Amino acid sequence: MKAHTAVHIFARSLQNLGLQIFVRKAEEKEDEGIIYIQPKIDKNYLIKAENNVNQIIFKGLEVKEEQFESLKEAIEKYPNIRYNWQRLEENQKTRVIKIGDFDVAACAREHETNTFSLKFFTIKNVNYKGEETIIDFLVGENAIDFVLENKNKYLDLEYTLHTQDVIKNITNLKQENEKLKKENERLIKEVLLHTNKVIVENAMDYIKSIPEMIKNKDKIIIVGNNDIIIASKENNLIKESSLAKELGLKGIIKENLIAGKLDPDKISKLLNLN
Ligand SMILES: [Zn+2]
Repeated sequence: MKAHTAVHIFARSLQNLGLQIFVRKAEEKEDEGIIYIQPKIDKNYLIKAENNVNQIIFKGLEVKEEQFESLKEAIEKYPNIRYNWQRLEENQKTRVIKIGDFDVAACAREHETNTFSLKFFTIKNVNYKGEETIIDFLVGENAIDFVLENKNKYLDLEYTLHTQDVIKNITNLKQENEKLKKENERLIKEVLLHTNKVIVENAMDYIKSIPEMIKNKDKIIIVGNNDIIIASKENNLIKESSLAKELGLKGIIKENLIAGKLDPDKISKLLNLN
């Protein structure tokens, strides 16, 4: 009931932001649920609507029901009513659920009698599939626990990273990582000027650089922990190709390029040919 009542408030909150939405489906348990809404909705709108749902919860609005002989009558009294046009017809008896003056919707399901009993609402996860937004959410103590748990995880991150700006810090780390990757690649290329074989952690990280690396070489071999690249200028990797196939290498097997995943013991077997 809590989760379902929250769906009413959430849908109206999105509409109040000026969005044209259609709630195609909602699956609810007592204190959690999934809403399928069309169209794709930007995260910023979802956050605003989430905030609004909590304001409505804290206002403690009464939830009341009203019966109408037809949907038409309900629409006459409440032009702003939300209803599922796929399920309801104009002359059908209609039960209307009013949440204070905030929302009116045609609905046959059970609801809380006051928004305050929802305690709290939080979005847990958002996914997009085609033109649909799929929102996992929590209500009640479940939602409070989730928010606190995540707040504490964030504090842990601040502590671990020695920073009060986790996002900035992670962005910096990512940039640094990119720099190191490039530097690493430059070093590998330099090593390959003097030798034909180099050992790295992930050979496939270098696949894009192969055309450049092979420029001044007849053949190069890059050995990773669980993958390997053997590249040749000529189409002469005939023995290697057939052995790679036999060993079950997953990836590219051509007569001038062998590249892909392989178990370490099988990598040794393939290397024994060279
Ligand atoms: Zn309902």
